[in-house]
This record gives sequence, C-alpha cells and structure tokens, in this order.
Amino acid sequence: MTLSIMKSLQSRIFILFIFLLLCVQLMSFYSTYQANNKSEVAQLNNKLLTAKQVFEAQFISRSYYLSAYAKTVARDHALKSLIEDDVKSLLSALDNHRKRIDANFAIAINTSGKIVGELVTFKNNNNENKPKVGIEQGKQFKHLDWLETETSEQLYPLSNNLYQLSLAPLKSGTRIIGWIGFGYVLNEDLANELAKITNVNVSFLLKNKINHNLSLLASSQSIDVFSNTLLSEILSNKNESYIASQFYLGTVDSDELIALVFKSKVDILKSVKADWGQFVLLFLLTLLFSLISAYVISASITRPVKSLITQVKSIAQGNYDKTVSIENSHELMQLANEFNHMKTSVVTREKMISHRAYHDPLTDLPNRNSLIKTLKYKQERATPFVVFQVNIRRIKEVNDTLGHKIGDKVIIEVANRLKLSQLQCELFHLGADEFILLSEDLSIENSLSVLSQNLEPLFEINNLSLHLQYAIGTALFPDHIDTDATDLLKKSDVAMQYAKKNKKLHQLYDRQFDFNTVERLHLINSLKTAIEQDQLVLFYQPKMSLNTMKISHVEALVRWKHPINGLIPPDAFISIAEQTGQMDSLTRWVTKEAITQYLIWQKKNINIKIAINISAENLKDKSYSDFVIALKNDNNIADHEITLEVTEDAVLSDPAQATEVLTYLKSHGFKLSIDDYGTGYSSLAQLKQLPVQELKIDKSFVQQLMQNKDDQIIVRSTIELAHNMGLSVVAEGIEDERTLLWLKEHNCELAQGYFISRPIEAHLFETWLKECPYALEKEGKWLSL
Ligand code: C2E
Ligand code: CA
Ligand code: CA
Repeated sequence: MTLSIMKSLQSRIFILFIFLLLCVQLMSFYSTYQANNKSEVAQLNNKLLTAKQVFEAQFISRSYYLSAYAKTVARDHALKSLIEDDVKSLLSALDNHRKRIDANFAIAINTSGKIVGELVTFKNNNNENKPKVGIEQGKQFKHLDWLETETSEQLYPLSNNLYQLSLAPLKSGTRIIGWIGFGYVLNEDLANELAKITNVNVSFLLKNKINHNLSLLASSQSIDVFSNTLLSEILSNKNESYIASQFYLGTVDSDELIALVFKSKVDILKSVKADWGQFVLLFLLTLLFSLISAYVISASITRPVKSLITQVKSIAQGNYDKTVSIENSHELMQLANEFNHMKTSVVTREKMISHRAYHDPLTDLPNRNSLIKTLKYKQERATPFVVFQVNIRRIKEVNDTLGHKIGDKVIIEVANRLKLSQLQCELFHLGADEFILLSEDLSIENSLSVLSQNLEPLFEINNLSLHLQYAIGTALFPDHIDTDATDLLKKSDVAMQYAKKNKKLHQLYDRQFDFNTVERLHLINSLKTAIEQDQLVLFYQPKMSLNTMKISHVEALVRWKHPINGLIPPDAFISIAEQTGQMDSLTRWVTKEAITQYLIWQKKNINIKIAINISAENLKDKSYSDFVIALKNDNNIADHEITLEVTEDAVLSDPAQATEVLTYLKSHGFKLSIDDYGTGYSSLAQLKQLPVQELKIDKSFVQQLMQNKDDQIIVRSTIELAHNMGLSVVAEGIEDERTLLWLKEHNCELAQGYFISRPIEAHLFETWLKECPYALEKEGKWLSL
C-alpha cells in the first residue's frame, strides 16, 4: 500500500518534471521557430534588396562600359573609312571590337540612317558566342531619334532578344559620318549570374504599358518552370508563398522592362525544416537527459520519505527501540521528530494498556492474564507447585450492607495481607474476592497455617471490626492437570467450592469433584434418561476372606453403557448425580439391581454377600433406608448379607443426621462400612461415634504397600486400631500377591483388588468364580456351581 503511494508520489513528481520540461521545450521550440521564420523573411528581404542593388549597379556599369567603349571605338579611323565602303571589312572590324568586350551585339549606321553593319552572337555547340550578321543588315534604323544625342543608352529588341545598347557618333572633325553601337544581351546568362550572386530568383519581364500583359524575357534557371500567371502573381505580390521585389529598367517600344527578384517561402521553411530536424534531435536528447535527471531527482526527493516509511513500519511492528531519523530535509526531519514523539506516547500508552491488561485495577496485583502466562511458563519449567485459590467469603454481604467503598477497602487489605505474608509465592488477584497463590513449597499445611495467621485477625476499617471467613482450594502441578497447567485453575476452584459448600477452611482437589467439563454437561442431560431407560449396568468385584482365602463378598459397582460414548466409569457421573439431585434414584436402581442379582445367586446356590455403595444424599432422610429395608424384608434377606458402603465425606456433611440414618439401617440388619478410609480428615476416634462395623482402607495406602514403609505403618496401625474398636477391616486396591499375603499376615479380614479380580459383569463373574482358585466355601464345604 505505502509502496504504491511512494511509487505514485515519485511518479507524480516525475510526471510533473516531464510536463514542465515539455512545456519549456515546446515554448523554446515555438519561439525558435518563430524567430527563425522572421529572421528568414528579414534575411530574404535583405537579399532581395541587395539583389536589386547589385543588379542596378551591374546594369548601370554595363551601360557605362558599353557607352565608353562605343565612344572609344568611334574614334577608330579605320572604322570611319569603312562605314560607307566595304560591308565585309566593316563587319570584320565591328566583330574585332565586339570581341574585345565580349559584346553580344554590334551595329554601324550611316548618316542616312541605314544599318550598314549589324552583328549578333549566338551560342554554338560548344556554348561559345559566335557572331553572325543581324537580320536588320542593310535596313533602315528604326530609332533615328536616338541618334540625335551624343551618346545614347537604350534597350534594343531584336529577334526575340533584348539588348542593352550604347550608341556613339563617328565623327570626321566635327561632322558626323555615322554611328557605332555595342550591346549586351539581357538573357538567361545574365539572370543566372545575378541569381548566383544574390541567391534569389531573377527574371526579366516585359510589361505592356497599356494592358499590363507580361512576357518573360529571360530568367535564372531556377524559375524555368514558372508560368506567366505565377510570375504576374508574384510581381503583383498576390502570391503569399513568395517574397518579391521589382524594379524598372527601361522602356522597350510599348513595353516596360522590369527586373523581378523573388524567393519562395517554402525555401525558408526548408531551411527551417533542416534546422527543425536538428532541433528535434536536440530536443529528444535533452528529453532523454531530462528524463534521467527527473527520475534521479524524483527518487532523491522520495528517498527520505521511503526511508521514513520503512522506519515507521518497523516501529509499527513493535520495534520501539528504533528512533526515526532523516537527514537532508528540514520538513522531513520535523516529520521524523513528530513520529518520535508519537512513538514515545504510543509506547507509554501501550505500556499502560498492557499493564492494565495484566493487572487488577483495584489492587494492582497481576490478574488472570498474568496468571495464565505464569502457569504456562511454569509448565515449561516442569517444577512441581501448588495452586492456592483463596476465596474471601461474604464480600458480597459487605458490599451490600456497608457499601462498595468499604468492600473495596477490604479487598485491598486482603491483598496487602497476602502480599505481606511470609510465603515464598506469586500472588494474583482474579477479581473481587478471588486470589491465587502459586507456591513451589509443596508443604500445603505449612502454607495454610501462614495464610490463616495472616487472614484471621480482624479487619479494622472505618471504625468497623470485620471478621472475614475464607475458603481455600488447592490443586497440584503436575498431579492435577489434564491437558495443561491452566486446568489447575478449574481444579483449585472446584476444590475451593467444595470447601465452601462444606464449610471447610481448605480442600485439596480430588478428581471426584470435577463437574465442569463439557462432557459432564452432556452427561447431566442424559443421566436421567439413562436411569429410566436401563442404560446402567452393574459390575461386580469380589472380596476375599483372608481367613479362608475364599470369596465371601462382592461389591456392586455401577457403570453407564452410554449409547454413543460407550462404557462410562462411575467417577465420571456419580458426582453429577450427586449434584443434580439424581443420587437417590441412582442408588435405588443400583440397590434393586444388586439385590435382584444377589437373589439370583442365592437361587443358584452361590452364597455370596453383597456390598452396595451409598452416598450422602441417601443419608439425608430415611426414605432410602425405608426403601432398602423394604427390599430386604420383602425378599427375606438375612441380616448382614447386605453391606452398605459409605464414605466419611458423605457422613461429614451432616454427621448427626447421618448417624441417625445409619443407626436406623444398622438396626434393620445392614452391615455398614466406612469406605475410602484415610482420605478424609476425620480421626478414628470420630468415626467410632458412627454405628459402623467395618472399615475399608483406601486403595491409595494399599496399591504401593510393599514399596512404601509409611503405608505399611498406616495400614498396620489402622487394622490394629479398628480391631480395638471392634471394627473389621477391608483392604481395597490389592494389585499383587505379596500385598495380599502381607494383609493376611496382619489380620486384615477382607481383601479386594485387581490382583483377585477387576469388577466384571454378573455372568462373567459366575464363570470367573468357577475357575478361580478362591472359589466359594460355605460351612467348610466347597460349593458346587
Ligand atoms: P469405591 O467404592 O472405592 O470402589 C472401588 C473402586 O476401586 C472401583 O472403581 C474399583 O474398580 C477400583 N479398584 C478395585 N480394586 C482395585 C485395584 O486393585 N486397583 C485399582 N487401581 N483400583 C481398584 P470404580 O468401579 O471405578 O468405582 C469408582 C467409585 O465410584 C467407587 O469407589 C465408588 O465411590 C463409586 N461408585 C461406584 N459404583 C457406585 C454406586 O453404585 N453407588 C455409589 N454411590 N457410588 C458408586
Ligand atoms: Ca465402595
Ligand atoms: Ca473405596
């Protein structure tokens, strides 16, 4: 774009130059042409004048010459004696005299006016003048009046020729005895000679005095082609193409002899044209030279502009270190300075904008954008870290009751307290009541206690003492990421929400909390129909009695055979069911299905106790309990055949209510088991309050039992304590034989894990049971299947 602008600027300057140049050239051409034209005309007029003068001088001098010669010859005695005598001798004498001056005409007249001798010249084949006797020889001379004067200069026509004639009397003493005369012919030779001298056309014309008719007498060779009409036009100055001048030479009978000198204007043009060719050549050369210099000049004008554009472009691409500089052009230097000013203000504004983009306007702490950047950076470094999401509770209430100003002050105060806490961490403010801390110190408990020390004290704002509550969710890198480190924000938020909901100070993220995926949203929508349309299916995982090493129990674990997504594990939808109020119907479905299966097995003599997982929702009131009790009673199921597994979290959300329901269930012959023991925060002493008979040690303590001494200590002491409290112990997550044997050795009652079997469908379970080494045994007998 800018390049084309530059191009057009350069070409415009270039075109302007060329235009100006052409104007100057054309003007100079025109004036030269005009001047040439004028000077040619003036020159020609000059020439004609000169020609006229030369011609007159020539004519007059010939006349004098002839007259002087005639007088001289008239004194010749020999000639005097011959005038009346011998014609032949006279002619010979006349010719001798004629030759001396190369005259074309000689005449001798006697006293009676008779022409006694007449010679005219003619051109022979060699172009020489040769004499011959004139046609008037012996005839009477027509112009006797000419003889009355001493000498006479006349124009004498004879046989189509006109002679310039001078006559002189021959005298014997004072007596005239005759006349002698010599003449030059006015012919082409004379005209050519004059034309040559003057460089104009010369012609002699006879013009009738009365009717003004013209007849051409002689002319220079150049005008042989001229017609009489044309000549008459030239003569009367009627023809524009010629410049002419004329003069009178004398009278011949009834005609006037006129000399005409003229030149064609075309000739002038010819000479101008010849000049014009040169001029055009010169013009083209100058044009070429000018084109080159115009290009160079226009380029040199636009070069600094181009340089300016390149520099400004580079700045536009974010190269702010550069300063625009232009030399050699005052205006452009000013422009460059303006650009530099502009650049400085752009940089300042950009800094402000980017600061705004990466910082919270209220606390000036780095915001979410900064956090995401930092998380990505940390992910590249791959050093483990903890995300603390701190939510200040009841800010909304502060805003609503005390006003936003106080609310803002509280937030600023919280920010300051977090800033001043002695934690080695990076602090971010996501807006309103949300703060994030990233810490590479992985001892969460330490950090939490520092945080609570800082946040606990009362807030003294405007004479008000506020005690703020807060909830903290934590997530770990890399443990809790799915795709990248930014996942941790969702995870810590989920954990924080969980803490908030359960009125806890802190919660570490657990995958079970996850409920914000798109997949999850789809599941929420279709879970209801899944239960109605029997898309759920139960898998069964055996529990082995470590005392007998035989299978004695089975745990029913639900799966969702999704028509599109295939088999969905319970972790993906149980929490959805919990949060969308579908847990009751789900558990009822599972319970019914599991008891049905139990009854089928009973019928098949597969005597195996069954365990069903229930959740917090089922402990809120007695409706589920009544449902399961009714099922048990309707089917005459003996006591302790059905175990209900419940996690400690499910109990903790409302311990009193849970205790009541659990007691109710226990009284109706259900065995109650605390699932996932060890993952919550309740101590064994607290759990003792619950009416449970069994403790299920969480798989996280069992899976690496043989490798981890700490796990062994925990598991061993848990078994011992549980036994002391009259609880039996189940260990889940047994993945190898050594663990199984270790647990047997440490008096754990039941074992469950992939080492024994993964959860499988009922019919597969039956097959498996037939073939496995731990087949059922009842009352000391092998069970025949
Ligand atoms: P849970 O009740 O602790 O179930 C045991 C889980 O541990 C099962 O996962 C089982 O497949 C897995 N497991 C068993 N042995 C091993 C082992 O040796 N190694 C490993 N790594 N895992 C083992 P599952 O079936 O995916 O169930 C996950 C959780 O979903 C269950 O944990 C339970 O909390 C919940 N759940 C499953 N079915 C139901 C149900 O019908 N009702 C309720 N409320 N929750 C259920
Ligand atoms: Ca369970
Ligand atoms: Ca468990």
